Amino acid sequence: MSLLRDFNQLDFVVLGQRLHGFARELYPICRSITGDGVRQTLAMIQSRIPLQITEVPTGTQVFDWTVPKEWNIRDAYIKASDGKRVVDFKRCNLHVMNYSTPIHGTMSLSELKPRLHSLPEKPDWIPYRTTYYKEDWGFCLSHNEMKGLKEGDYEVCIDATLEDGNLTLGECYFPGRSTEEVLISCHVCHPSLANDNLSGITVASSLAQLLAGRDLRLSYRFLFIPGTIGAITWLALNRTAAERIRHGLVLTCLGDKSGFHYKKSRQGNAEIDRAAMHVLTHQSESPEFLEFSPYGYDERQYCSPGFNLSVGCLSRSVWGTFPEYHTSADDLEFIQPTQLAESLRACTAIVDVLENNRRYLNLKPYCEPQLGKRGLYRSTGGGAIGEELNARLWVLNLSDGQHSLLDIAERSQLPFSMIHDAAELLQQNGLLSQVSEQDGV
Ligand SMILES: [Zn+2]
Repeated sequence: MSLLRDFNQLDFVVLGQRLHGFARELYPICRSITGDGVRQTLAMIQSRIPLQITEVPTGTQVFDWTVPKEWNIRDAYIKASDGKRVVDFKRCNLHVMNYSTPIHGTMSLSELKPRLHSLPEKPDWIPYRTTYYKEDWGFCLSHNEMKGLKEGDYEVCIDATLEDGNLTLGECYFPGRSTEEVLISCHVCHPSLANDNLSGITVASSLAQLLAGRDLRLSYRFLFIPGTIGAITWLALNRTAAERIRHGLVLTCLGDKSGFHYKKSRQGNAEIDRAAMHVLTHQSESPEFLEFSPYGYDERQYCSPGFNLSVGCLSRSVWGTFPEYHTSADDLEFIQPTQLAESLRACTAIVDVLENNRRYLNLKPYCEPQLGKRGLYRSTGGGAIGEELNARLWVLNLSDGQHSLLDIAERSQLPFSMIHDAAELLQQNGLLSQVSEQDGV
């Protein structure tokens, strides 16, 4: 089975449009770490893939954390004395500091100002601010809008609730022949932000669609969860399942035009790290590989020392390093169909490595077997045969039961897909046999 080969049969342009189209549907929703925005988002993902939804009550103790109160918002505005809304949540949900407590009153501009957040260096953009773990309220607006506010009284309203409720987690599981699992995780807690949030959601759900209904060697678990508290909660409630995770990827910021970045797991040389770096080296221009650091996205939780899972983080731009990060400029224009589709291809290729990274035994190890008499030495046409033949020779030479196909791909500097094709062909011709793994699959 080659997932990548099947992926390459798809219409790349149509695929990119579909990914971007899904991001466009999700964009207007006001998400947060809890509340109806997350539920609505998960329901839309559920219309595409089988998603199990879990509600975890406020107050539940999850390791050193507590599931917070649930936040929901209906409306928010700042109204000038002439009745005009000068800041309006209904125009852009970033206008309200996420998790703001409710407020309704009148105040002067000088009283209001400490509650207003803007970006003087990007005067047209609205910043994204949150106050999850400290009860507070505030508004975000462009610096130009802020400068335009005149002295006087303003009606200020945040029609929100912050009360006991639930934290909502979405999970999709595809059992494979082995109980060993691959984890794909992305956060679903940012409001109208495209690269940081929606790109990961659309790529992860499309990857799940590609895997659905397939005969898989490994089992796959997709998590669509609020950042930090969602991952902590899932890990706290699923310690047995977490023990089965052998490889994992956190997906985020996959729609912008930057080259790929792969942040290694805490282990640094896990199979997922090698698979991701191999795929990106062969499939993309100037990828960058980053060492693990205990900051970033939910790899922080999966790679905490108690778990130390082999989970890396795949992105294009790195969080915090692009000017659009956590601002209204991280919008639907900032993510592009082609980049989303390329990101999905990279994920598919990585999964393809994990699925097919097996060991083989050369059944004719004394000198080279005569490939010519089997029609495996020369082929008519196509300059690529040089590499294909090279791949066959590498596979034969290193298939001593010790080297995996990824070992061979790394050492030969040939793409894994070519090494895998060579192994399948040699096996069909009786020159190789697969070494059975401990779990027998
Ligand atoms: Zn973020």
